[in-house]
Amino acid sequence: MPDLHEKLAPIFDEVVARNPGEAEFHQAVHEVLESIGPVVSANPEYTDAEVIRRLCEPERQIIFRVPWTDDSGKVQLNRGFRVEFNSALGPYKGGLRFHPSVYLGIIKFLGFEQIFKNSLTGMPIGGGKGGSDFDPKGKSDAEVMRFCQSFMTELYRHLGEYTDVPAGDIGVGGREIGYLFGHYKRITNRYESGVLTGKGLTWGGSRVRVEATGYGTAFFVADMLAQEGSSFEGRQVVVSGAGNVAIYAIEKVHQMGGKVVACSDSNGYVMDPAGIDLDLLKEIKEAKRGRLTEYAERIGSRVKYVSDGSIWDVPCEIALPCATQNELNAAGAERLIANGCQIVAEGANMPTTPEAIRLLQSAGVKFAPGKAANAGGVATSALEMQQNASRDSWSFEYTEERLAEIMRSIHTRCLETAETFGAPGDYVVGANIAGFTQVADAMLALGII
Ligand code: GLU
Repeated sequence: MPDLHEKLAPIFDEVVARNPGEAEFHQAVHEVLESIGPVVSANPEYTDAEVIRRLCEPERQIIFRVPWTDDSGKVQLNRGFRVEFNSALGPYKGGLRFHPSVYLGIIKFLGFEQIFKNSLTGMPIGGGKGGSDFDPKGKSDAEVMRFCQSFMTELYRHLGEYTDVPAGDIGVGGREIGYLFGHYKRITNRYESGVLTGKGLTWGGSRVRVEATGYGTAFFVADMLAQEGSSFEGRQVVVSGAGNVAIYAIEKVHQMGGKVVACSDSNGYVMDPAGIDLDLLKEIKEAKRGRLTEYAERIGSRVKYVSDGSIWDVPCEIALPCATQNELNAAGAERLIANGCQIVAEGANMPTTPEAIRLLQSAGVKFAPGKAANAGGVATSALEMQQNASRDSWSFEYTEERLAEIMRSIHTRCLETAETFGAPGDYVVGANIAGFTQVADAMLALGII
């Protein structure tokens, strides 16, 4: 790991000591601290007021028991989390992740990233994240409902449209948000639409929210390409994952003239030289919650299914990691570089390891970090909150244009900030410094809290 600025190294050591065993959280903090050295040198007031130490300590962490009964009548137990990280810019905002890998360190890394991502959107939202080690895979709808109801029975007291507004993440989509919102409404006897985002269109949701993270990532890459006078037209693209982010990244890349030739799930990847058949992918993944093996079986010999390899072996000019944290490591980065990849943009949160980022950047591959490239999801959540607050509902076209505008402005802010701080073209430095400064200035203004 590269050395940190002399004022930041002890802060990082303190974070590691105070949060033992939380490797992903340490990684997320280190990545931000690596970038902000020049800002700290130029602005001693940030360290004088301990803004960075305070930023690394969540404002509140809630951990709770989630008991529920499975279909056979057996009592099951999971652990629930909500880390309310920073509310300098607005109510805590960020998704809920239901996945067996969830523990406090995962929620803290996601919550920490969310602070800077939300700041970059320019919307008035603070950062938070939550979830559970519950695995929705293989559970019946009734089991998922009972779990969500038990989860909300504890969480509701911590939420509110001016306090904390969760949404989805891995394992939490429209079905889960429905059960969570229904239970919140029942317990509180309030139709408080603005308390959760990612709602269905008939009960307070926003158009484009389902598509927003993937579309936003594709828009961001289109802006990167436009910067060099180019576009998606005729470009070969690889998208890892096959969930909500991946599906809508693929859809928008196709609409913009690119061809996505591979995608993956936790069992393996498919390579389809004709371009991923999106209708079939949606049917298998969205409607049936099935596996990609079915994609290969249904299409036949044209498609190659690989269960024991890496999707980054598939040659492409643009790679969009849209699955999960640390899925693109040094070996993957070396394969991408060897195959002539020019752009990597993160649709998922922290999918690229620090070593892989360094390899890509030193090989001249343009790299867009998730807090910039995948901010479209949470930005559209903020648009959903706006619609809820004004009891309004916008058209698809208008909402999509707002999303595209927000992504354009994040792209410009990243590049301008990177240029100002002597790192032209470095989206990591640009995103971290631009995201950090806005939150840090607000924290200074709000006093020692
Ligand atoms: N989970 C998404 C993210 O990582 C969206 C959060 C939200 O909409 O609040 O940004």
